[in-house]
Amino acid sequence: MTCEDARAQLLDYQRGRLALPAESEVRAHLDGCADCTRDDALEHELTRALEQRLPLHPAPIALKRRLAAQWPTPSTQRSWWRRWRPVLMPALAFAALLMLVTPVLYYERTASRMAGERAGLVAEAVNDHLRVLASQHPLDIESGDVHQVKPWFDCRGRPARRPRPARPRSSGRWTGAST
Ligand SMILES: [Zn+2]
Repeated sequence: MTCEDARAQLLDYQRGRLALPAESEVRAHLDGCADCTRDDALEHELTRALEQRLPLHPAPIALKRRLAAQWPTPSTQRSWWRRWRPVLMPALAFAALLMLVTPVLYYERTASRMAGERAGLVAEAVNDHLRVLASQHPLDIESGDVHQVKPWFDCRGRPARRPRPARPRSSGRWTGAST
């Protein structure tokens, strides 16, 4: 930017009427040019003196009224969002809160239920084990005859049927018999 270009835009620069790129160029020129900086100060002083020392005449009432009539009035029609914002904001906040809290509650309930099931399974296994240990006859089947036990072992792949107690033999021992 030349000095001539900068001085031509000084007044607009001081009043903030330049676009951002042009304002930046003028400011950069003023930073590097002492002559234009002095002209800028003079222009500023002249503007201030004119604003303070020249008499001010009030505008006629008719002109004020005409200007007031032509002045654009602010829109009284509020936008859709402004009208519904007081109602929608709490609802949106509540929905957001639900979206945050629901997965946490679901996870906690699921974890609690799984922990309960696991604890029940462990308790059942421990009880079964203790029952077997405390039992007088921990085995499901007891027999002195291999022909009575063999069918029970044949059913291992299938759901085993509990052996039906057989009548005591002459020796007085109870034996299991598969059916
Ligand atoms: Zn200059």
